[in-house]
Amino acid sequence: MIETKNLHKYFGELEVLKGINMTVEEGEVVCMIGSSGSGKSTLLRCINYLEKKNRGDILIEGEKVEETPQAINAMRQKVGMVFQRFHLFPHKTAIENVMEGPVTVKGMEKEEARALALKLLEKVGLSDKEEEYPAMLSGGQQQRVAIARALAMEPKVMLFDEPTSALDPELVGEVLGVMKDLAQDGMTMIIVTHEMGFAREVADKVIYLNDGVIEETGTPSELFENPKNPRLQAFLGEIQ
Ligand code: ADP
Ligand code: MG
Repeated sequence: MIETKNLHKYFGELEVLKGINMTVEEGEVVCMIGSSGSGKSTLLRCINYLEKKNRGDILIEGEKVEETPQAINAMRQKVGMVFQRFHLFPHKTAIENVMEGPVTVKGMEKEEARALALKLLEKVGLSDKEEEYPAMLSGGQQQRVAIARALAMEPKVMLFDEPTSALDPELVGEVLGVMKDLAQDGMTMIIVTHEMGFAREVADKVIYLNDGVIEETGTPSELFENPKNPRLQAFLGEIQ
């Protein structure tokens, strides 16, 4: 579904991604872990062309994305993204936030988009909150609206960048629960997370990124129970 080949990204002189090779198969859940500043967000943002790579290739469903606005927009419909901060439209209700993409980007009829949005809000457990504005919702609820909004574009892949890091601890579980459901539905996902329990339970594959390099990849039990890389061992020691 997604493949990067020798992906390099610089910010000025700073080399942030140093030749990333990764593959994500259809239906696979890949969790990405690593210290702050290691390049996790930049990697997701390059996959979604929110950042322009400097070198290497990114293949989505086996095809290179042309670097034209049209091709990038078409690709973004296939690749949904959920951020640490929810970025909902504050002046739109929950259901309007979810309807926005299908109506404005896909040209869907409002009634059809409303029906789709209702279904998705139900899926994330918010069917009673459809007419609320974001400010009236908890962080966990806002993030679930953000997930529904991304799903409304019917993506083939979902990218999550620390989706629970901005939440109060008691709200983390409801968002992880929605992501678990998505995994069970067979959604292909790349999830940057510090929730190791979640990664252990849900990931098919875990990637440890350190200083722009994938230093270890494996199943959750390989990485968490038998980490080989000394830096990964230290990282896991710190966060547990
Ligand atoms: P992570 O998500 O793993 O914490 P990031 O991908 O956000 O790491 O950042 C990786 C490195 O790139 C950091 O050193 C960060 O300061 C730098 N960086 C990220 N975005 C920018 C930017 N827009 N301009 C300059 N440097 C950036
Ligand atoms: Mg980050």
